[in-house]
Amino acid sequence: MKSKTKYIFVTGGVLSGVGKGISAASVGNILKSRGLKVNIQKLDPYLNVDAGTLNPAEHGECFVTADGAETDLDLGHYERFMDVELTQKSSTMSGKILKQVIEDERAGKYLGKTVQYIPHVTKAMQEHIEAAAEGFDVHIVEIGGTIGDIEGQGFVEAIRELGIKYGRENCMYIHVVYIPYLGASKEFKTKPAQNAVKDLRNTGIVPDMILARSEKVAPDNTIDKLSLFCGVPKAAIALLPNADTVYQVPLTLEDNGSGDYITKRLGLGLLKSKNKSWRSFVDHVIAPKKKLYKVGMVAKYLDNEDSYFSVVEALKAAGWDNSADVQIEWIDAERLERSPRTVGKVLKSVDGIVVPGGFGNRGIEGKILAADYALKNNLPYLGLCLGMQVAAISAVRQTGIKDANSTEFDPRTPEPVINTMDDQVGKEGTGGTMRLGAYKCSLKSGSIAKKLYKQTMISERHRHRYELNSKYIPALNKQGLDVSGVWEEKGLAEIIEKKDHRFFVASQFHPEFTSRPNRPHPLFVGFINSLKKPVKLATIKQ
Ligand code: GLN
Repeated sequence: MKSKTKYIFVTGGVLSGVGKGISAASVGNILKSRGLKVNIQKLDPYLNVDAGTLNPAEHGECFVTADGAETDLDLGHYERFMDVELTQKSSTMSGKILKQVIEDERAGKYLGKTVQYIPHVTKAMQEHIEAAAEGFDVHIVEIGGTIGDIEGQGFVEAIRELGIKYGRENCMYIHVVYIPYLGASKEFKTKPAQNAVKDLRNTGIVPDMILARSEKVAPDNTIDKLSLFCGVPKAAIALLPNADTVYQVPLTLEDNGSGDYITKRLGLGLLKSKNKSWRSFVDHVIAPKKKLYKVGMVAKYLDNEDSYFSVVEALKAAGWDNSADVQIEWIDAERLERSPRTVGKVLKSVDGIVVPGGFGNRGIEGKILAADYALKNNLPYLGLCLGMQVAAISAVRQTGIKDANSTEFDPRTPEPVINTMDDQVGKEGTGGTMRLGAYKCSLKSGSIAKKLYKQTMISERHRHRYELNSKYIPALNKQGLDVSGVWEEKGLAEIIEKKDHRFFVASQFHPEFTSRPNRPHPLFVGFINSLKKPVKLATIKQ
């Protein structure tokens, strides 16, 4: 069958977590730089319907698209590397497909047929892939996990069949493998990669290209070996050692000739890359910086830094914009909660703090203490979603309303500064029921937010269930805090800020999702810029 869209399928072997997502995103980056219309999609073999119910400590951040899909963090890489706004079509978990197949079966849509993994589930998978590909020159499809995982087999079969349906000239398979280094014998070993390619071939897929990840720079004969034993041309093998910054990966691929190889292989012709600005951006990132900011991240999912991936990237990007590096100091909110006396000591060691999003009451009082300290001590504060809610609770408590709380943490609180919107009541606990995706927000004239955004109407992504209760706005005002951004339609507060402060801005939305490495988000820029001034402690009148 003829296809207007060219497909690139990205799979992984040897082990997971070697940067398959970054590799797929980098392929997207180099193709987009050739003027092609590129889409990208992640197929996740989990039985979850989406990433909304996955624990970030286990799985990493839940990335939210503008149209409200709760997705795997790889979509964040894709958006940052390709500077695109993806939709829910770009994230497909097995659970979503299986739910649909079973619902169709219950609705009698299979007309009495035996419903089977092949062809029914694989067909549903292909429909999801084709729907995402529609209208694009190239569609990149990354399969989560590694070849051989039981739960991933359906997706692997689905992409194998697509290769037959559209023909090899329209489809390409890229396998990302890992090359370990043995310190004892000072050698890079290609055997696991060879076996991983064998595993892929056993599924009926012959790889067109191999991206070989390694921690150090592997010698060139690695390419000869891989080519010989895996049956892939040398020109289609790229070595990807650990880079100074992940944003270097597209350039490594480009310099290796992978961009030209892919476009030629897919019959797209030799298109000239316009990756110049990305190159100068990367040069700027890796150049030694004169300034280093220490930013305290008051958080609770500390076992897995991926839980806050987009926040960290947004902070780093704002730092680079300011020709500075940002060092994240992870501050355990639960520890602050357990030992309130240490709050001053811990927070004095950083230039400013970020309180990122989160759910549930573990560590919540520690986060409120951090907001308290920032308010009272003129320490720059950026609150993101939950970070805005704890800032509001802290400020209201400072007016003497000691019971101020969120109904999320104390459902019977007499002072519900943060509570649920009427139309959210009863939906607690089920997946996909939060305020999700982009909502408009109008900014108050003369506000810090408006000065940073340089516009009146913005649109930002949300993922939360609770909102600021407008009854408490006078109490916030009493503490010098203003609501400077509002979702007019429902009259809900989107941003709160304090003027007589070095920087105290908190948003109900997640600005980190729209920040780009080379185009940092204005709120992060404002926060990082505020760190330049010397800290003057206790200058706020209480
Ligand atoms: N738990 C809070 C809510 O649901 C904040 C969510 C978040 O930080 N993303 O409203």
